[in-house]
Amino acid sequence: MITLKTPIEELPQVGPRNVLYLHKLGIRTAGDLLFHFPFRYDDFSDFKAIKDVEVGQVVSIKGEILEIQNVRTRRRNMILTEAAIEDDSGVIRAVWFNQPFLTNSLKAGTNVSLSGKVTFAKEGMQLSGPAWEALGKSNLHTGRLVPVYHETEGLSSKWLRVHIKPLLSLSDEATEFLPEEVLERQDLLGLSEAIRQIHFPDDDVAAELAKRRLAFDELFLVQLYMQRQRQEWQRQKAVGIRYDKELEAEIKYFLEKLPFKLTDGQKIAVWKIIKDMEKDSPMNRLLEGDVGSGKTLVALLAVLVAVRSGYQALIMAPTEILARQHFAESLKRFHGTNIRIALLTGSESRYFDGRDEKSLTKEKILSAIKKGEADLVIGTHALIQEKVFFKSLALSVVDEQHRFGIEQRAQTQSEVSDIEDGFVATVPHLLSMTATPIPRTLALTVYGDLDLSILNEMPKGRQKIITELVAPGNRESTYDFIRKEIKSGRQAFVICPLIEESDVLEVKSATETFEKLEKEIYPDLAIGLLHGKMKPKEKEEVMKKFSKNKINILVSTSVVEVGIDIPNATVMLIEGADRFGLAQLHQFRGRVGRGEFQSRCFLFTDSTSGKAHRRLKALIECESGFDLAQKDLELRGPGELVGVRQSGLPDLAMASLSDSELIQATREEAKVILEMDADLKKYPELLSRIRIFEKDVHLE
Ligand code: ADP
Ligand code: MG
Repeated sequence: MITLKTPIEELPQVGPRNVLYLHKLGIRTAGDLLFHFPFRYDDFSDFKAIKDVEVGQVVSIKGEILEIQNVRTRRRNMILTEAAIEDDSGVIRAVWFNQPFLTNSLKAGTNVSLSGKVTFAKEGMQLSGPAWEALGKSNLHTGRLVPVYHETEGLSSKWLRVHIKPLLSLSDEATEFLPEEVLERQDLLGLSEAIRQIHFPDDDVAAELAKRRLAFDELFLVQLYMQRQRQEWQRQKAVGIRYDKELEAEIKYFLEKLPFKLTDGQKIAVWKIIKDMEKDSPMNRLLEGDVGSGKTLVALLAVLVAVRSGYQALIMAPTEILARQHFAESLKRFHGTNIRIALLTGSESRYFDGRDEKSLTKEKILSAIKKGEADLVIGTHALIQEKVFFKSLALSVVDEQHRFGIEQRAQTQSEVSDIEDGFVATVPHLLSMTATPIPRTLALTVYGDLDLSILNEMPKGRQKIITELVAPGNRESTYDFIRKEIKSGRQAFVICPLIEESDVLEVKSATETFEKLEKEIYPDLAIGLLHGKMKPKEKEEVMKKFSKNKINILVSTSVVEVGIDIPNATVMLIEGADRFGLAQLHQFRGRVGRGEFQSRCFLFTDSTSGKAHRRLKALIECESGFDLAQKDLELRGPGELVGVRQSGLPDLAMASLSDSELIQATREEAKVILEMDADLKKYPELLSRIRIFEKDVHLE
């Protein structure tokens, strides 16, 4: 007997090759297959008598095949299968290209149902390339709303329909895990009904209701997961850092010494952080801000609060270069404060004792940290995780940069909890920072109800980066411009087009651009190359050279590190600009304009599509990453936002991210349920479902 747990290998007519393809999609059991949903439908529900059929319509007809044959077309040398179909009202022609085997299944005298578009040829009206099936059985491919599944290697929608249909009865076995009251309040379809209807809906309305129910499930689980995660975090203890008069004076003094004033966003963020850290439950705040919006300074103020209260603080960065950058910035900002700072990366260990900065062995630094002789420790994630013991760590700052997603957040929390902070039974306050500009509503969805601070205003006096769309004929003049910039000592980035289907192609295109620039255009200049297939060490090496101006022009795929500060770089040239999302283009642009020099961003595109040009124009006109992310959301949908696709959200949840009503509803319901029953004791089905979800998230 087939159940939801039956492995797909044991299903009838599923061969080893199909098994392979299904496994690639993560489908291992009959249940998995049943939960593989279509993403749209072909509407073939309009049955017509042949005499009523009109050119341009998408119709379904029922009739008998009078004759059918393969002919070779003279032009283009293709095989054309043509058939004549008759019903009570008339006869119509149907044609298929390059499917000669059709004559094996469709023989004269067979009664069939056909669905497709009516076109006009010199022989008259015809159905071209219609979907077909023999009459008699229930309709799968014609004469109804026909489910279309995402194309995947080796698995056609037709194959999926045939194999999913017999499993529909299993949907009764699927455990209804939504609490009765939620189903009622939200007026949702029952689970088994929703599964039947999402595959083979009775009509449009049924399809919509099914989608709503199943999307609700995914979003609800995300919300529940995030809110539970948050509860769990807040149940832990942290050291409360009392913000007293003395501390206030200390901060004031620090701010007075700064050569600039904080932006309003920075002030608010710092204040919230101070308030968070006063509590004895741990802070878990996300600081979102465009590149250059001054996140590091906010972090350093938090560090100051912790350190001046006698605790240690930690800043973790994703790469060595970024760690070094934070180290340099801290030395500058904390100059004269006698705060002791340690830098720990795979290749460097440095120590600032409050007066002098020097290289020390890793062992010495580790022991200084353990003895509490380093107030601020800066390092790469990997290293800190490994072996650092603190004496009294009260604050961890995690600079995630572009890392984003529900599993990353969960991971960050557990990483930070695991650090040996030197206290019994506490965790440090956690501040994460990201440069991914995600609109607030979206962030709240993907992260549940998190504490979020957004820096949406750039520090004053920042130079505007001039952005230009370059017509294909003006490539030369751009190259000349770059040469002039290099002559006067500046540097340039060249970003190669994103090729999503293939890393290999992307690397190839970058390598070609690199060779062209090096050999033909700028044989006299130093050109560097950076791509995702290089080892981390090699990448660091190239970036190091670039930051020392030993490379004039850096050719890179989209991997170029977010957050890298090269104030001397003034040109950002982006090839195939239309292939990137607005927010991502904006991040590239943010790589320049970080110094005192006027910077420029050149956009190249071969695309002639009006839509692509409108998007690029938006980039030219708009300077704020958040506004651009919002525009991207409107123009391309949520799935295309930087980070969101990597967020680990299930498909339907992803597709429903622009449905703010549904998001709101799921968030509310999750909150209501957890407020009543934090441990889900009364909802065992829901609890076991959320456990599965948790496991999936951690396996990603
Ligand atoms: P990001 O948000 O990308 O991490 P940074 O923190 O690196 O940005 O800040 C970029 C630069 O702007 C740094 O050199 C920093 O000192 C400076 N900066 C930060 N805040 C301000 C401000 N309020 N006014 C002027 N410059 C600022
Ligand atoms: Mg930064």
